[in-house]
Amino acid sequence: MPDGKPPRILAFANQKGGVGKTTTAINLATALASDRKVLLLDLDPQGNASTGLGIPRNERSPGSYALLVEGQPLPALARATQIPNLHLLPADPDLAGAEIELVGRDQRERCLANAFAANAAALAGFDFVFLDCPPSLGLITLNALVAADGVIVPLQTEFFALEGISHITRTIDRVKRALNPRLGLDGIVLTMVDRRNNLSELVASDARSFFKDKVYDTVIPRNVRVTEAPSHGLPVLLYDFRSPGAQAYVRLAAEFLKRDRARKP
Ligand code: ADP
Ligand code: MG
Repeated sequence: MPDGKPPRILAFANQKGGVGKTTTAINLATALASDRKVLLLDLDPQGNASTGLGIPRNERSPGSYALLVEGQPLPALARATQIPNLHLLPADPDLAGAEIELVGRDQRERCLANAFAANAAALAGFDFVFLDCPPSLGLITLNALVAADGVIVPLQTEFFALEGISHITRTIDRVKRALNPRLGLDGIVLTMVDRRNNLSELVASDARSFFKDKVYDTVIPRNVRVTEAPSHGLPVLLYDFRSPGAQAYVRLAAEFLKRDRARKP
């Protein structure tokens, strides 16, 4: 249970779309919520995390835009979800304009970090805050990286995956040097792994030989139940708990907590 300490803030980022950022953020958050308090911020104007948690488009405002751009207080914005202990800040439709609106601001890359600082008391009620980033390295993702303690990079095991990952790791290094010394690569999660596909296995083994223990042992298999779940507004853990995809996210959460304990002094 929350102990009054600040939560650990993790950005789910990769400039490639469709690699499993949102799916991993939702399902890892859901699995962790069985005994931790988690807040998920949908920072992607496409609002897939909001859809995946069953929030209709016309009920998403005020949400992450109100926090990031308007500086509204978090307690009035965070919503309970159908999963106890999992709260959500949906992506309000206005978020699509945020990149442009933030450009002219002072400290435009620190708006989210400043909003978190102003809401420290409310955040202390959570163990983890997950930031589901859009598929770009624009100003919203930059705000997430400046506000985060660590980054989880979902990596789809396909041909160009490793080429793409150097963009995000270099961006993490730059943000760490220039803007947020706390930031680190927390881990890489291999997603949509298909054991019958040699290329998928090859990419997975290349990722492990290069990124070593940064790569989670748990891999997420390609599983049709994972694809179906969002259209029912449910995490796959609630849609079909016994499916291979849901069970992989349960194991990922156990590994995540084990790594989290090992990280602490
Ligand atoms: P991102 O947030 O990186 O754009 P998503 O999490 O939205 O990626 O995933 C992209 C698509 O792939 C979605 O349609 C999602 O349902 C599907 N998907 C994600 N993970 C899996 C999986 N393990 N098996 C099958 N489909 C998946
Ligand atoms: Mg997404």
